[in-house]
Amino acid sequence: MAGVRTLEEIFIHAPHAFSVTVFGAEPRGNYDRIMLSPVLAGEKRFADIVTHDRPWYEKKGIELIAGEPVVSIDRTARTVTGAHGTTRPYDVLLIAIGSNPVIIPVPGHDLPGVIAFRDIADVETMLAAAQAGQGDAVVIGGGLLGLEAANGLHRNGMKTTVLHLMPTLMERQLDPVSATMLKSDLEARGLTMITGANTKAIHGTDRVEAVELTDGTVIPASLVVMAVGIRPNTALAKDAGLDCGRGIKVDDGMRTSDPAIYAVGECVEHRGTLFGLVAPLWDMAQVAADRIAGVAETDYIPAVSGTRLKVTGIDMFSVGDFSGEDAIVYCDPARGVHKRLVVRDDRLIGAVLYGDACHSGWYFGLIQDGSDISSLRDALVFGPPVEGQDAIPELVEAL
Ligand SMILES: Cc1cc2nc3c(=O)[nH]c(=O)nc-3n(C[C@H](O)[C@H](O)[C@H](O)COP(=O)(O)OP(=O)(O)OC[C@H]3O[C@@H](n4cnc5c(N)ncnc54)[C@H](O)[C@@H]3O)c2cc1C
Repeated sequence: MAGVRTLEEIFIHAPHAFSVTVFGAEPRGNYDRIMLSPVLAGEKRFADIVTHDRPWYEKKGIELIAGEPVVSIDRTARTVTGAHGTTRPYDVLLIAIGSNPVIIPVPGHDLPGVIAFRDIADVETMLAAAQAGQGDAVVIGGGLLGLEAANGLHRNGMKTTVLHLMPTLMERQLDPVSATMLKSDLEARGLTMITGANTKAIHGTDRVEAVELTDGTVIPASLVVMAVGIRPNTALAKDAGLDCGRGIKVDDGMRTSDPAIYAVGECVEHRGTLFGLVAPLWDMAQVAADRIAGVAETDYIPAVSGTRLKVTGIDMFSVGDFSGEDAIVYCDPARGVHKRLVVRDDRLIGAVLYGDACHSGWYFGLIQDGSDISSLRDALVFGPPVEGQDAIPELVEAL
């Protein structure tokens, strides 16, 4: 997603400056990866999420070498070579190879039927498993990806269990109260959620048959989806001698330790930070494009990113640091609504909204702009003030 976004930005400024070749490991053009969850849930078709198909590449005059991952970079000769032996020269190289799903190395992790959730091939495997009537799915990981996978598998008729190591779901995005509400909502739909679940082994002869936890619980499984995190894809860059930490190290201009090579997206490490959401990638793409096209010496400035769970009917939003003690909390358990707004030095620094996220954009803006919220504090939890009216008297009147 980040690579082609960079190309689009370059084409805006310098449509004819480069002869472009794109190598892609996947055997097709591009699609919106974040929409894989709605495809799995049956709410969208793959065709709906394609963003750059082969005709787009042809129209732009780009050579697309799809289905052939780059396996080596020769920085002296300035060439890259793909897995099938295709070699292309470069003046400027952009690495945008994303990240790899973490697979927990428990016994049985390599059995057929144990997969990750990263690309359309994984979605196809999940849909095929559901259609084959292989009824029990186990998802390891109760974060954003795991829950979206579980929801999709459940909607496709699989009996689905989520195993989550931590005591509460989505602990990186939700406080314990909203996480508990989320768990209840998912259970009410028919999913089984086990928190504090430590996977010991995956069992099966020719393919996966069950998952065993350290407490001895055994859960039948004809499909296991591991959604326990991602790791930046650095092998190619490391082999080429580029400076890598946990990701491919880039400076503020998205340049690697080789000035002819840029990197954007989840594969990078910028000032010690790794990335897992698309919003920062668009900013990186802009910076890399400005510099590659030579239009501006733009710098990448990290910004906050918000998260939503793409499970239809569940309204949640999380942004920033929501763990602070100066918190304004609104909770209506009967309606399944919980809001936690965290303030520091009269600035909103984090928000968790569960069950009612209609003002998420406003809170996000306040955090992003660092606005002084002292005059809004009394009614902050009810959303933006209605023009010409005071939100609190209005509410009291309504009661
Ligand atoms: C199911 C799912 C749901 C998500 N939902 C959200 C969401 O709601 N909100 C959000 O902000 N983010 C979401 N994300 C994360 C988001 O999709 C990623 O942040 C984004 O796709 C990263 O973009 P990228 O360009 O860095 O990597 P990718 O989109 O992964 O693109 C990298 C590409 O490089 C290819 N590649 C790898 N190695 C090589 C090689 N050696 N040579 C050539 N090509 C190679 C890969 O096959 C891949 O096609 C979701 C991710 C998934 C999987």
